Amino acid sequence: MRVAVVTGPGEVDLREEPTPVAGLDEVVVEVGATGLCTMERRLFLGIKKIYPVAPGHEVAGRVVEVGDAVAGLPGVPQVGDTVTVDLLTRCGACTACRRGRSSLCKQPQGGELSDGTLSFGAGLADYVTVKAKQAYGTGSARIEHAAMGEPLACVAHSLRLGGLRAGDRVAVVGAGYMGRLHLALARQAGAASCGLIDLSPERLAEGLAAGAAWAAIPSEALAAGGKQDLVFVTAGAQGVLEAALEMCDDGGTIVLYGAFPKDVAATVSPDYLHHHEVTLLGAYSQEPEDWTQAAALIASGRIAEDLDALVTARFPLEDVGKAFDLAANSPVYRVLVG
Ligand SMILES: [Zn+2]
Ligand SMILES: [Zn+2]
Repeated sequence: MRVAVVTGPGEVDLREEPTPVAGLDEVVVEVGATGLCTMERRLFLGIKKIYPVAPGHEVAGRVVEVGDAVAGLPGVPQVGDTVTVDLLTRCGACTACRRGRSSLCKQPQGGELSDGTLSFGAGLADYVTVKAKQAYGTGSARIEHAAMGEPLACVAHSLRLGGLRAGDRVAVVGAGYMGRLHLALARQAGAASCGLIDLSPERLAEGLAAGAAWAAIPSEALAAGGKQDLVFVTAGAQGVLEAALEMCDDGGTIVLYGAFPKDVAATVSPDYLHHHEVTLLGAYSQEPEDWTQAAALIASGRIAEDLDALVTARFPLEDVGKAFDLAANSPVYRVLVG
């Protein structure tokens, strides 16, 4: 089978790799579509210089083989089912995993191809194998939607940690792909309103078309949306935390979802947090229960329209280089391969 390997900045090769066979507790999935995420973008642009490497962790496809130890168990996908797959490895043994916080597993991520090449998912390929418990059925949903399982699980994680409840007033900083997934899930969860904050007029207009209650540039956000119960930050930059604090109402929560540049520092008044009972928390990656929610939502079709609007382009695997080029060098929501 073929698998894409990034060999240097701007360079992607398709290599041959033995077609996988299911282990006892695994499934083999014929890849239908794989999304290109920030990690792929950074590798291709040479911001993250780890070469050669086989990326691709936002994968959906059709089950073609189920391991003997799990075949037929209730909940285990069957041959022919469409699934979205969690390609992260978690040890289950470290302090984080033992506390049910496996998104913070202490074991370094990553696997290997047959020739020892580092793999971060290796999902830009014809097939992937994964533990059966990490394959989640998506019913009759489009494969492009199923391939959004991983980012949606991350956003479900963000909403869960943030404690979003029906009736909450929500603001999302950043109207890119992750911001739009927050908008879709917040609306689905019954938010009283969900507004978007971004610098790009195009993205604000597209967010309004997708159902945002309001959309504003940062300097006009408070006037446009007023105080909020929850503020999700999906685009970290200098001054964003302070602006989020200003928007956050008493008793509210700020969720730091997106990465910040490492050199950004913020001034926060501990006394303010105390007197106003403001919660400040980070949300990173996802956990099994977030996957269950994400897959169920995809399968339900209830956010199909939201997800459709986020498919920027789809390329066959042989054109994986073109897909990387588009994802790395243009403002896109999601570029898919497969
Ligand atoms: Zn991702
Ligand atoms: Zn662990």
